[in-house]
This record gives sequence, C-alpha cells and structure tokens, in this order.
Amino acid sequence: MTAPLDPDALAAAFTEAFRHAPEGVWHAPGRVNLIGEHTDYNDGFVLPFALAQGVSVAAAARSDGVLEVRSRQAPGDAVRAPVAGGPITAEGWPAEHAWAAYPAGVARVLAPYGTGGASLLIDSDLPRGAGLSSSAALECATALALCELSGVHVERPELARLAQRAEHEHVGVPCGLMDQAASLLCRAGSALMLDCRSGLSSHVPFAPGDAGLTLLVVDTRARHSLTAGDYAGRRAECERAAAELGVPALRDVKDLAGALASLRDPVLRRRVQHVVTENHRVEAATGLLRAGAVAELGAMLTASHLSLRDQFEISWPQADTAVEAAMRAGARGGRMVGGGFGGSAIVLAPADRAGDVREAIGAAYAKRSWEPPAFLEAAPSDGARRTR
Ligand code: ADP
Ligand code: MG
Repeated sequence: MTAPLDPDALAAAFTEAFRHAPEGVWHAPGRVNLIGEHTDYNDGFVLPFALAQGVSVAAAARSDGVLEVRSRQAPGDAVRAPVAGGPITAEGWPAEHAWAAYPAGVARVLAPYGTGGASLLIDSDLPRGAGLSSSAALECATALALCELSGVHVERPELARLAQRAEHEHVGVPCGLMDQAASLLCRAGSALMLDCRSGLSSHVPFAPGDAGLTLLVVDTRARHSLTAGDYAGRRAECERAAAELGVPALRDVKDLAGALASLRDPVLRRRVQHVVTENHRVEAATGLLRAGAVAELGAMLTASHLSLRDQFEISWPQADTAVEAAMRAGARGGRMVGGGFGGSAIVLAPADRAGDVREAIGAAYAKRSWEPPAFLEAAPSDGARRTR
C-alpha cells in the first residue's frame, strides 16, 4: 500500500490520465493557526504552522497556452481553461468546475510573469471541511509547479501574495494572507509569526514532540452555518470600533482601558477586548516558544478560547465541550480555531495523556449524542516543495 500522496504513485496516475509522464510533482501543505484568531483583518499577528498533510500536483508543461486540470477529489472530466483571460468569476463556469478556478486563477495571475500552459493532476490528504486550508495548499502547489515548469523565479513572499490575489480575483473569496504565507514559508519544527500589516514574517521554534507534547487537531464535526454573514458582521464591528477610536485598525489600540472606556456600545467593547488581547497573546506565545517554554503555550491557547467564546462570541458547543473535556483529562490548553461556529479545535497535551484526552472528548460527545469527533496529530512540517 502506498501513502495517499506518494509522489511516484501520483506520477503513475498522471501518466495514465494524460498518456505521457509528468515533468515533476510538487506538494504544498495545509496549516493550523496556533494562535491569533480574527486578528488578520485588524492588521495584527498570526502564528500558523504547516501540516504534513496537503495537496500534491503532478505536472507537465503544454505549448498550447491551456491549463488542463484533473483532481482525484473531483471525479469527472478534466477542466480546460486558457491561461490568458479575465476574472474566472465573470465567466459563468458550471458549478461542477468551480474547484478548478483555484488552479486556473493561479495560472492567470502568474501568466504575466512568464508561466505557460500545463497539464495537472491533483491529489490531497487533507481532511475536507475541517478548516485546514486546502484552498491555499491547492493554489501554492499549482503556483510552484507552474513557476518551475517555465523556469520562472518569484520570491516566496511575493508568490504568497499572488496566490492570495488568485483567490480574490478568480474565485471571489476575499481571504487574508495567512494561509498562502504558511503554505509557502513554513519550516519543519517551526511556526510562522506573520505580521498581517507588513507581510513580514519570522520562524519561531515549535516542535511539540521534542517537548514531550502532542498537538491534536479535533474535527468537532460541527460545520459552519451562516458563517459568511457572521464573519462579515464581526469584520464590520471591528471596523466600526476602529473608526470610533480614531485608529487605522484595532492593531493600533495602545491603551486598552482607555479605548474600552470611550466606547459606548458594549458589543464593540467586547470585540475590541478580544482583538487587542489576542494580539498580545500571539506576541506572548511567540516569546514563550522562543524561550523553549512550549508547554506554557497551553495557557495562551485556553485564554484565547475563552476570549473567542465570551468576548468575540463565535465559539460553538462542540468546541467548548472539547476544550473543557481535554482540560479535565490533563491537557495543557486548547481552543477553537478558524472563523467560528464550526470546524476544528486544537489541544496541546502531554504526549502520554493524549490517549486520555481523546477518550475524554469522545465520552463527552457520546453523552450528548453528537457525531464522534475525529483527531489528527499535527507535526509542524516544511512548506511547499518539489517532491519528485
Ligand atoms: P479550506 O481552504 O479551509 O479547506 P475553502 O472553502 O477555502 O476551505 O477551500 C475548499 C475548496 O478548495 C474546495 O471546495 C475545492 O473547491 C477546492 N479544493 C481543495 N482541495 C481540492 C482538491 N484536492 N481537489 C479539488 N478541489 C479542491
Ligand atoms: Mg481556504
């Protein structure tokens, strides 16, 4: 049995699908954001790391200016699109081709840099719908493949911006920069401290296994509902608070007590409390990791969860229950991750308690007759790279 993303197996599948061998295989990881939730659009800080799991692309150049893509997760015919053209969102693609806007959008954004047409076969071992950023992994694997097939060199921070632009302009999702930056810039044994205002980042040592710890990603099995509207609502509240406080973004609030005293709307006070303290928690977490105090990170995660639950008000029952059960079973800390109202949680636990933690969360779920959670042990891994 070969691993799901064995590059040789993907190359063989490419040869079968396209009747010739690929020139190479590229891989880009999904990510988990350790801490820094709803800070990105407030010009603040985030601290993601790359997973071992991600998206792989087997690829060969074409001379006809067309991108032809197939995905093992999207059975059906290949999707073909010229690499030259306007926004894909304006072209009225059928719904079953929607996924191909990610790679085709990347091809259109990169074409002015000198990349050309290509045939791509895509495969992924990221769990679906768990908020681990499969879209950025797909964009970044495609971007790296297209650049290397044409001998085009783009520095990785700029490539992250271009992949983000592809998602904005060709998929129509106004995402932040974190997912693409994490997928392209992360290193094994590290997290990436990213300043969302400047785009500058630095590597911070994060190897939970070396510290006798396990970082569990818990798929809480609750899926987002109405997230688009709730997300936009939180963003709007943050913008309104920044305007009332006379700062460009909530990142610029230096005097939290003064800011809270001057806001009359209690909802805005709670939102500001979360964003400002969350930025401090990212900086504190970074300091703890640089000092080698990995276990102490747990308290930051739990503080972040309580702030997201009580001040930002975006947690959901399964996430609260998972964090509480994990703590009772000896975890060092944990929190919900992502936009809110569904998706995943993370838990930091001593490696020898990880089994107890899983059992405790499972038992708490069973008591409430919820669909059982799924677990993934996260290992901070390398960013996007050629694998064959
Ligand atoms: P996330 O990035 O958190 O996983 P998104 O909604 O941003 O969630 O992106 C998921 C979308 O990315 C899917 O609906 C699909 O269109 C596309 N996608 C991701 N992985 C693949 C894949 N292996 N094959 C085809 N499309 C994929
Ligand atoms: Mg995404």
